[in-house]
Amino acid sequence: MKLEGSCHCRAVRFSLESAQPYPFMRCYCSICRKTAGGGGYAINLGGDNRTLKIHGREHIAVYRARLEQADGSMALSSGHRHFCKTCGSALWLWDPNWPDLLHPHASAIDTPLPVPPEHTHLMLDSKASWVEVKRGEEDRCFADYPDESLADWHERHGLSDI
Ligand SMILES: [Zn+2]
Ligand SMILES: [Zn+2]
Repeated sequence: MKLEGSCHCRAVRFSLESAQPYPFMRCYCSICRKTAGGGGYAINLGGDNRTLKIHGREHIAVYRARLEQADGSMALSSGHRHFCKTCGSALWLWDPNWPDLLHPHASAIDTPLPVPPEHTHLMLDSKASWVEVKRGEEDRCFADYPDESLADWHERHGLSDI
């Protein structure tokens, strides 16, 4: 489906095609919850970067988190987190390792999204102490990364390419 999104001040507006538009994936990692998750997590969607159209590109800034490596050194995350320079709204994540994919935050999308039949809770090892996980009966929980991609989840539920 076609998704249309914007930042809060509307300096940035964008659209893209999405085959994975169900907002089921809740990420509790420190980067998501600090940059995009007022409730303690952010929700990422799957979209097609090749269809991305942007209005107000000059208002966009990119944040790359510094991550501690196994040997204690610091390295820049490959994830490019795009946000509005004026109002601070988190917009999407893009990673050059998967250049055709784009992950908009559900919070930036204006198109009414479908309600997911179940949720995936990931990066729970990074969850803030005060955040209560509202776990539904069918929900899946992961200490770090899930064993199922955005696309696989949609396929399992027969919800691809709606
Ligand atoms: Zn803005
Ligand atoms: Zn995250």
